[in-house]
Amino acid sequence: MVQVIEWVNPGEDEIIWRYPNEVIKWGAQLIVHEYEVAIFMRDGKVYDVFGPGRHTITTQNLPLLYKLVGGSNSPFKATVIFVSMKQFQGRYGGETQTRELAPVKYYGVYWFKVADPVLFLTEVVGGQSLYDTADVTKFIRAYFNEGMMKHLSAYSIVDLFQNLDMVSTQVKVKLMEDFRRLGLELVDVKIEGVNTTDEWRQRLFWIMQTGNAQAVMQMDTAKQVAHELGQSEGAGLGTGMVVMPQLLQQPAQPTQPAQPYAGGGVPPAGYQNPQQPAQPATQSQQQTQEICPYCGKPIPPGARFCPYCGHEIKRCPNGHIVPEGAKFCPVCGAKIE
Ligand SMILES: [Zn+2]
Ligand SMILES: [Zn+2]
Repeated sequence: MVQVIEWVNPGEDEIIWRYPNEVIKWGAQLIVHEYEVAIFMRDGKVYDVFGPGRHTITTQNLPLLYKLVGGSNSPFKATVIFVSMKQFQGRYGGETQTRELAPVKYYGVYWFKVADPVLFLTEVVGGQSLYDTADVTKFIRAYFNEGMMKHLSAYSIVDLFQNLDMVSTQVKVKLMEDFRRLGLELVDVKIEGVNTTDEWRQRLFWIMQTGNAQAVMQMDTAKQVAHELGQSEGAGLGTGMVVMPQLLQQPAQPTQPAQPYAGGGVPPAGYQNPQQPAQPATQSQQQTQEICPYCGKPIPPGARFCPYCGHEIKRCPNGHIVPEGAKFCPVCGAKIE
């Protein structure tokens, strides 16, 4: 009987399959389906590679192994691994720390496929001695997660919560490079969510309200900030202004640096930067514009819920935005129910 080497009915999620018989006869029929590659390995090393089609195993199309077995025509030992070239989806999730050591949880989805089967088998299958789909998939997920943890930790908590789109794009590029090293193509990555502790969420609130990350970070805890600013009824404002004047005097939105006068020398009297015409109305509107402390987007005055992220906006009786869990309004000192 002719030996037939074929991956019959691979499952949806199966990325590799090892032909169970390690003794191969010359003349064996090798059947490789579309989106598959069959690779002959021995002792973790990759020898000959076959693309889709029906192949008869001869000394001619298996030159490397033929040489290895000393030119003998008797059956020889080899591991035949089939690799699927289809696209796979994986879920990930984990914990890391931001640049300021804020604890962050994240989760999402990624899509990948094998781009270079020889490199993939050398690095992952042979290199790690993982010969079935479950082990390979686990390895890839751990590798992805490790990269995600490392790359996310280079960002600040404000970037993660306020500029997640930008962070996603940059992290994706880095992870794609990591994957290329394994012979894999990372097709896409989606960060579905990031989260942090209550303590850090409060701190984030202050950073977004004041636009002054450095000052908030210098305080021991965000609770301390809220406490200092809203210490006692009525006295809240005064105390706050003494303790953290630079915090409250900063406009909530980052101001653009003044454009230098392009003409050289001293600008003529009455010179106005054409890119920044004086617009007192817009200017003052911008300063009273409220910012969602959870996603950083501008919200309509007096909004009770952010139209962008849906988060509830807590307010004091006088309408000032207050952090979650605050007992007094940090601006006017009013007690919060
Ligand atoms: Zn929001
Ligand atoms: Zn208030």
